[in-house]
Amino acid sequence: MTFPYLPIEDSISAPYWEGTRAEELRLQKCVACSKFQHYPRALCSHCGHTNLEWQKVSGQGIIDSWTEVMRAPQEGFEAPYIIARVRLAEGPIMLSRIDVSSSEVSCDQPVVLKWQHLSDGRALPLFVPVGG
Ligand SMILES: [Zn+2]
Repeated sequence: MTFPYLPIEDSISAPYWEGTRAEELRLQKCVACSKFQHYPRALCSHCGHTNLEWQKVSGQGIIDSWTEVMRAPQEGFEAPYIIARVRLAEGPIMLSRIDVSSSEVSCDQPVVLKWQHLSDGRALPLFVPVGG
C-alpha cells in the first residue's frame, strides 16, 4: 500500500521524522521522570517537564487492541487494512497499521516494527507479527 499524502513535520517532531529516514524508531524520554512518550510533544505527558531527550527504541511491542478498516477514509488508501494500538516495549502506545490480514491478528500478539517508505525519504512505522 502506498501512502497517499506526506505527514506534517514541525520543529517538535523533526527528530522523530529524521529517525525514520534511518529506519530508527525514536521516542522522547523525559530527563526528570525517565518515562517515554509518543507522539512527540513539547512537554512530558507524565510530569510536565520540558527537558526531553530522544532515544532509539526497540521496535518491539504487543497488540492490545485492533480493528479492520473496511472503507478507505479518503482516495489513495486501499481497504481493508488493520489498525492497532501497539503497546511498545518501552511503555507508550502507538497507533499503527499491522501488515497482516484480519485472520492473522489477535490481541496480546507480539509484533515487531518494519517501515513503509514515503516519497520524501521519511518512513511510517508499521508492525508485523513476530516470526510472521
Ligand atoms: Zn516526565
